[in-house]
Amino acid sequence: MTEQQSPGNSTENAAPSRQTIRKWILIISFVLLPVTLFYISPIIILMGAAEGVATGSMLLFIANFILSLVVARLWCGWLCPMGAWQEICTPVMKHTVQDGWRNYVKYLITAAWLVLLGYLFMGAGGIRAIDPFYATDHGLSITSVEPLIVVIVIFLIIFAAAFFMGRRGFCRVLCPIAPLMIIGRKIRNLAGWPALGLTADKAKCIDCNKCSNECPMGLDVHGMVKDEKMETPECIDCATCADVCPKGAITFGIKGR
Ligand code: SF4
Ligand code: SF4
Repeated sequence: MTEQQSPGNSTENAAPSRQTIRKWILIISFVLLPVTLFYISPIIILMGAAEGVATGSMLLFIANFILSLVVARLWCGWLCPMGAWQEICTPVMKHTVQDGWRNYVKYLITAAWLVLLGYLFMGAGGIRAIDPFYATDHGLSITSVEPLIVVIVIFLIIFAAAFFMGRRGFCRVLCPIAPLMIIGRKIRNLAGWPALGLTADKAKCIDCNKCSNECPMGLDVHGMVKDEKMETPECIDCATCADVCPKGAITFGIKGR
């Protein structure tokens, strides 16, 4: 993760500190993974479902869906340790994810995961208990070598996804939680209540392409600005584009429909 510059931006003084804060939050989230992993794991949710237990991970997924009704994918851009890992590795990611069928793979994964989740809960007789600390050891996720090895393998897979498919390739193609937040955002867009997002003023744009070059998700932000269509399901609300734009053409904040 590299520091962003924002000369000329209307957020000239605040912008670098915003990205610095975001990156430190991501780094801390990544370092805390041995503690937090079982609170953010879709696999732990399935294990709990097989026993009729709503786990801490399940509560977090539900919370993320509800929060996405207002803050969209803020979790992905600011808190997710898997996202943090991919941004740490960004310097060796040479390309961005190509648009097209890849963007839809995660929806199939999430759909299959939800079907399996329902099947397991039904087999267990429904939700019979809520245990936020399910599968943890005194609240810690990783306390022995075996799960640590599993975690290392998972993170190698995430690295490979981003390396071969493009920056934040795991987020864009494979992440099972992303579609839940995207659905939340779609609901908000239909309802039209105020929510976090981007706005653009194409008249200010000088076509420098910094926004596209620095977008962690590899989005064509410049093209979005030109079309003044800043709404996209792949945006993770990191605010990087707003912070690097030298002309203040992009604004990040609460907006109406
Ligand atoms: S479009 Fe902007 S806010 Fe969205 S992911 Fe890209 S850089 Fe971040
Ligand atoms: S929106 Fe800003 S960063 Fe993006 S191309 Fe235009 S001037 Fe450059």
